[in-house]
Amino acid sequence: MLHRLNNINLYAPENHGICNILIAAGKIIAISKEPIAIDLNLLASDEDFTGKKVVPGIIDAHAHITGGGGEAGFKTKVPALNLSQYTKAGVTTVIGLLGTDDTTRNTSSVIAQVYALREEGLSAWCYTGGYHIPLSTLTDSVRKDMVHIEPIIGVGELAISDHRSSQPTFDEIARIAGDVHVAGIMTGKAGIVHFHLGDGSRKLDLIEKLLDETEIPARVLNPTHCNRNIPLFEQACELTKRGITIDVTAFPPTDSVEEYSAAESFRRYMKGKFDKEKFTISSDGGGCLPHFDEQGELLYLDYGRCTLLSDTLKELLDEGYKLEEVIAVFTSNVAKLLRLNNKGKLEVGKDADLIILDDDNKIESVMALGQWHQKNYKTIRFGGFEV
Ligand SMILES: [Zn+2]
Repeated sequence: MLHRLNNINLYAPENHGICNILIAAGKIIAISKEPIAIDLNLLASDEDFTGKKVVPGIIDAHAHITGGGGEAGFKTKVPALNLSQYTKAGVTTVIGLLGTDDTTRNTSSVIAQVYALREEGLSAWCYTGGYHIPLSTLTDSVRKDMVHIEPIIGVGELAISDHRSSQPTFDEIARIAGDVHVAGIMTGKAGIVHFHLGDGSRKLDLIEKLLDETEIPARVLNPTHCNRNIPLFEQACELTKRGITIDVTAFPPTDSVEEYSAAESFRRYMKGKFDKEKFTISSDGGGCLPHFDEQGELLYLDYGRCTLLSDTLKELLDEGYKLEEVIAVFTSNVAKLLRLNNKGKLEVGKDADLIILDDDNKIESVMALGQWHQKNYKTIRFGGFEV
């Protein structure tokens, strides 16, 4: 299946101007300012995109692909996300994980869902473990999980500074981070611990202590939900100066003045002139987002959606931020941290995962691994049980 995309404004994420792109067998095989000559009989599609922008597909590094939740009784377990819930948002790569419920859900079911998404045409990997220690692993160790099971690229989301955590000790966390780092070296995988941060007043102190007192490289330690409260966000931004990549969550809109939206986090991060490559945004898609009072009693429940990523992208572009800077936090920055070498950039030899944006910064079409999933604002590929 060859596709030729003509006269398209290429953001790889850096802008290359008007280009023509040839795609074959799920890969980008040519990019040229000149017309790309090819036997027309070989082309499955040959389209003109004059006036349109193309950007890499979004890598969502934090999604509850089996469905998460269950934090207000069993009936609040969120169902697994359907294929088009990713692609509608421009997500072409997803990293699945477990959170609070690492008891009735386990690493085995996350891996099975990774395989299901791959069969449906998405790129997917996962973390092993979940909120709690001992970690829910498939084998008897994190290192074996990472070394022997191809989709597993690290540990997450391991909860700290949260009333739902295992109240892990420094030694426990240091041991896990060390094991993940070694397995990352052995396999070339991401080798990171993706930490869930709660609202606890200890914030990122445990991660600071790991930097101060162990030899574990900063890149291994990757906190998420860093925008859930303002002091946490400020500490997280400072930690990027020590080499940490921080992740913020595209939470559903709220009236809270205590947290920053993903878009507001981006604005503040850029204004603060922190390292542009050390900031990413993920969805928490499929996760339930409970709000508790100070006694841990549930106030109300919401759930994460991948489309909040594309909403955030549009919000920032509408404000006039440069497309290449905004799209990097959803794509190339994530690929770099996760060592996904074929992802996050539109270059010859990389996977053909791309989004066509219209003049209003809305997603018009989405291609994953060389296949159109969304075309002219319509879903054209559905998951197994969607229709
Ligand atoms: Zn979380």
